[in-house]
Amino acid sequence: MKASKIKSSKFFSWHSFAIGFVLTCAIAARPSRLCAKELSKTDFALGTLCTIRLLEGGNSATLDEAFARLRTIEDRMSVNKEGTEVSKINKMSGKEAVQVSSETFYVISKAIEYAKLTNGAFDPSVGPLVKLWDIGEGGEKVPSSKDILAAKALVDWRDVVLDASTNKVFLRKQGMRLDLGAIAKGYAADEVEKILQRARVKAAVIDLGGNVLVYGTKKDKTSWRVGIQNPESERGDYLGIVEVPQMTVVTSGVYERYFIENGKRYHHIMDTKTGFPVDNGLISVSIVSKSSIDADALSTSLFILGIEKGMEFLKRFPDAYAIFIDKEKKVYLSLGAEKVFTLIDKSYTLVR
Ligand code: ADP
Ligand code: MG
Repeated sequence: MKASKIKSSKFFSWHSFAIGFVLTCAIAARPSRLCAKELSKTDFALGTLCTIRLLEGGNSATLDEAFARLRTIEDRMSVNKEGTEVSKINKMSGKEAVQVSSETFYVISKAIEYAKLTNGAFDPSVGPLVKLWDIGEGGEKVPSSKDILAAKALVDWRDVVLDASTNKVFLRKQGMRLDLGAIAKGYAADEVEKILQRARVKAAVIDLGGNVLVYGTKKDKTSWRVGIQNPESERGDYLGIVEVPQMTVVTSGVYERYFIENGKRYHHIMDTKTGFPVDNGLISVSIVSKSSIDADALSTSLFILGIEKGMEFLKRFPDAYAIFIDKEKKVYLSLGAEKVFTLIDKSYTLVR
């Protein structure tokens, strides 16, 4: 086993591009296989490999517009790029409030909403911990307890001050650091959806590093089929299939971006209480819902909350379904999820 798997950028990770993939041509279709007349573009954006496939309607200008939109979002919200709005907020932590675009303000507000709802389990001010652990950047090691304590002390969503009248964001303590990696790709998928609507696209697949949104209705009127990646095998190998009309399927998985030290696996979703990666036996959580920003925030939130609390939390979102997979090869479905999910790999067990 390699000590560290995929290299990826710290903000939007590209590791998960095959976590969810869409079967449009035939059951065995791979994400790269094109159907007849399909127009598709794949490029690196938001620090991840993004693919947009137009199955019916739209043209290459639609694809270009969508990718330009992704770049704008990245240039505003990335945590690692110099000069982005989020970088400016972080740079001015403890000093002064920074005015941002209304969309950056919206995404930060949404993230803070989830922080409130999950009591800080989901916390966009997790940046100092993410930076300290530096998962996926090579040369990883477990940080010293002193460093973990220091980083943890800077993580508190209640110290993120939002002024909706001016779109200003202020981090109260110097060294605080916002990180929107758990929510921004979801927002971006929703924004691409708007572009497809305006271009009157009839059917399309948006895949932003495993953040999948199936759009419109296929010509044959059958449901979309989105594969859920098998955590134990090669990319493109699915464990189950989600069958839905226009929906988004977002997965938070920890099986591709991690390192191993002394036999223990350390991944990139942080427990803000301990300062260590979340350690609750889960390997992935997929969310099926209408809004991708919510699905993205929810997949990370539910991963951190764990099965029991996560299921309870999901009751607030009656239109969303969750599929939890743990290390014991058990698959747990939220209420109603059995309507959309079919287990394919029989070495896994469905638990109700
Ligand atoms: P993906 O890696 O596919 O984007 P997620 O949506 O679950 O998966 O996001 C994980 C990212 O969220 C991490 O790389 C980090 O940037 C950020 N993050 C880590 N821990 C937390 C947390 N407790 N709350 C909010 N965001 C977090
Ligand atoms: Mg997420």
